[in-house]
Amino acid sequence: RFDILREKGRFAVDIGGTLVKLVYSSVSPPDADGNTDLLLNFRKFQSIDHCIEFLRSAWHDRDAECYLNGTGGGSFKYAELLKKELGVQVKRTDEMLSLITGCDFLLRNNEDESFTYHHEAEGLERYQYKPIEEKAIYPFLLVNIGTGISVLKVDSPTSFSRVGGSTMGGGAFIGLGNLLTSARSFDELLLLAEKGDHRQVDSLVSDIYGGDYKDLGLTAEVIAGSFGKCSNLNHRRALGAENAKEEDVAKSLLLMISNTIGQMAFLYSNRFEMKRIYFGGFFIRKHPISMRTLSYAINYWSKGSCEALFLKHEGYLGAVGSFLDVKE
Ligand code: ADP
Repeated sequence: RFDILREKGRFAVDIGGTLVKLVYSSVSPPDADGNTDLLLNFRKFQSIDHCIEFLRSAWHDRDAECYLNGTGGGSFKYAELLKKELGVQVKRTDEMLSLITGCDFLLRNNEDESFTYHHEAEGLERYQYKPIEEKAIYPFLLVNIGTGISVLKVDSPTSFSRVGGSTMGGGAFIGLGNLLTSARSFDELLLLAEKGDHRQVDSLVSDIYGGDYKDLGLTAEVIAGSFGKCSNLNHRRALGAENAKEEDVAKSLLLMISNTIGQMAFLYSNRFEMKRIYFGGFFIRKHPISMRTLSYAINYWSKGSCEALFLKHEGYLGAVGSFLDVKE
């Protein structure tokens, strides 16, 4: 199947609201028998300028006849800049179609592309890889968590629709994290969240009821209101948030966002009777807290009937689809 890659454009970009994703092919050095392999390479950049700089140095044989495939909002916004700086033609591919084509390609071609996350297990046991038979891939719900969130109902590689979305995605996480903590990068923010204790910031069921809320089956530790302990501007101390540190704020923020996404994903899956939910986009970054929260929410709300699946190339679906040069 990799043969199709040989005929297609060699570089493709997905320029989103936050990150620029690049997928390109290269040929491996010959082995002892002189055989070469075609390799797919994945890179992400914080800005279009960094991506252009890389392409200038890595794409040696480019000329005015060459195409740079592109998708995402930036393939419109930066088309002229890319043409001017690199001297190549930009060929746009549809964003949603690229996303689904990339997802389909990765699931079909990469045995360990998708996995479920099991927090209760130890070490690598937490990641259970799920090769899937081709005929069992569809239907599924794709929840792509980038700057914002798109929810797609996918019935086949050519039959899908965007059924919803949310503005409370990765952009909200990094944006609020930036406003509320001293973290200066996404990774720093995640590191802070790992060290944090959200109970210093959130109102728990026990804070309101003094213990479990048995009638509704809510245990004392369940979050009743995210950031609830910080909600009274004049009485922050009285509400018990006086010891809150910035890592506690980061943890509460990550939990608030991933819990909400988990619940929204479940509601869409329930509405469209989907049993499998793939999560894509760079918000996840295979981070244990996010994957644990999303998996827990899906399992809890669906009473075990739905499955949360994660993808090894989570943030590159659109770029892979664009690389494959999808036709509408
Ligand atoms: P988009 O296509 O909208 O740029 P992505 O799938 O690339 O979306 O995801 C962007 C989100 O990924 C950011 O909002 C942020 O939450 C998260 N993220 C992961 N890694 C980084 C990083 N190194 N820098 C900035 N954001 C990152």
